Amino acid sequence: MHDKTVTQLAAALKSGELSSRELTSHFLQRIEKADGSLNSFITVTAEQAMSQAAAADKARADGKAGKLTGIPLALKDIFCTQDVKTSCGSKMLDNFIAPYNATVVEKLRAAGTISLGKTNMDEFAMGSSNENSHYGAVKNPWDLSAVPGGSSGGSAAAVAAGFVPAAMGTDTGGSIRQPAAFCGITGLKPTYGRVSRYGIIAYASSLDQAGPMARTAEDCALLLNVIAGHDVRDSTSVARGVPDYTETLNAPLSGLKIGLPKEYFGDGLDPEVEKAVREAVKVYESLGATVREVSLPHTHYAIPAYYVIAPAEASSNLSRYDGVRFGHRCDSPLDLQDLYTRSRAEGFGEEVKRRILIGTHTLSEGFFDAYYTKAQKVRRLIRQDFLDAFEDVDVLMGPASPTPAFDLGAKKDPVSMYLQDIYTIAVNLAGIPGISVPAGFAGGRPVGLQILGTHFAEAQLLNVAHQFQQATDWHTQLPAFAEENA
Ligand code: GLN
Repeated sequence: MHDKTVTQLAAALKSGELSSRELTSHFLQRIEKADGSLNSFITVTAEQAMSQAAAADKARADGKAGKLTGIPLALKDIFCTQDVKTSCGSKMLDNFIAPYNATVVEKLRAAGTISLGKTNMDEFAMGSSNENSHYGAVKNPWDLSAVPGGSSGGSAAAVAAGFVPAAMGTDTGGSIRQPAAFCGITGLKPTYGRVSRYGIIAYASSLDQAGPMARTAEDCALLLNVIAGHDVRDSTSVARGVPDYTETLNAPLSGLKIGLPKEYFGDGLDPEVEKAVREAVKVYESLGATVREVSLPHTHYAIPAYYVIAPAEASSNLSRYDGVRFGHRCDSPLDLQDLYTRSRAEGFGEEVKRRILIGTHTLSEGFFDAYYTKAQKVRRLIRQDFLDAFEDVDVLMGPASPTPAFDLGAKKDPVSMYLQDIYTIAVNLAGIPGISVPAGFAGGRPVGLQILGTHFAEAQLLNVAHQFQQATDWHTQLPAFAEENA
């Protein structure tokens, strides 16, 4: 069962071949047995999951089942869940139990899916390797000495290991696509505003977006159907109809115009990753697509602009953790100032503090125009690069990450870690959607092909990704870890 897709498991539930209780207990047992070596979950909600599974089986018996009723999945620990701890990977929120559910969580519940628990992540979603978690690093099921990517590394590792058929992640600068690439699964970052951010702990509000991580594009389509849509509780969510993303999966690709941004094939790209991506592009040519080179001339400025804007927004968002209302509070504060200072000093990890300091600096009087205003202008140019490219081509393709998963502990200085995000970060600055699909291996570790589309082109991206998965079998390959623990 652990190697099946959501689509296959939903069919098995529908035909009565399996019950949700059987499915749920199977996955819970796998987590129990093997997550000790991966650390992909922060919290496992076994009891709650089993009672939800029983309710799903009853709903089915009563003829009230929807497409996803009874399907187990996992939630990155950034989604607020009523009655279940939401830590955001931080000591600051180790004691935090949200009084409400995020909209994504509500929608998934309403669709009858079952949460098995909350997955590990970089603290406050800041990181590219999952090594910044208060709960310890996550390991990559393809190679336990490698990182799973970040910040949604727990979600990616859990799917790759066959602990859940799908999981939810968030992506501020690549955190769905890069861990999906590193773990050999499919991950979709929707257009900014497509999915409600209500109840998702804010990192950089103008960039954050939630999306599905699963084995296939088809599964991502099923899940996006559930979570997408306008939400009156998130004023940045867009009031625009949600199509059935599964309906267009099989549209033929003949005549599809693919652009390869030349800036995504330059220095620093691992030759084996490049080879795998170019092979994938050939598959598209065999499906009738045409390919041309395009340019995104401001790509070079994406990382600097992001590392001004994201920390600025983070410093503001994280000011709410003051030891007063919720979260970590230091012991016996001397006065109010001491309460703030020590609670924050004790509750936040090193990377989070670094970003708060950067953000506070760039937003301060005298520096604001030089850094923040300028970064926003650069952001506008980056967005325009994409819009210009989409005048000529339908989708862009390239690697999700310049290298396959690197070793745990390999990137010691923050800047070398930030450079990991070179192919993913501009996408968030522009607000467009992107998907990473498995496209081979480099040094035995998975490679992700990234496909980008214009705003609200999710249906097209899922179609393009699905057709690749009809023609290749990279997405069906599982790490030995998943089989050994079967
Ligand atoms: N790696 C990037 C960062 O550290 C992106 C993280 C994310 O998408 N949440 O900010």
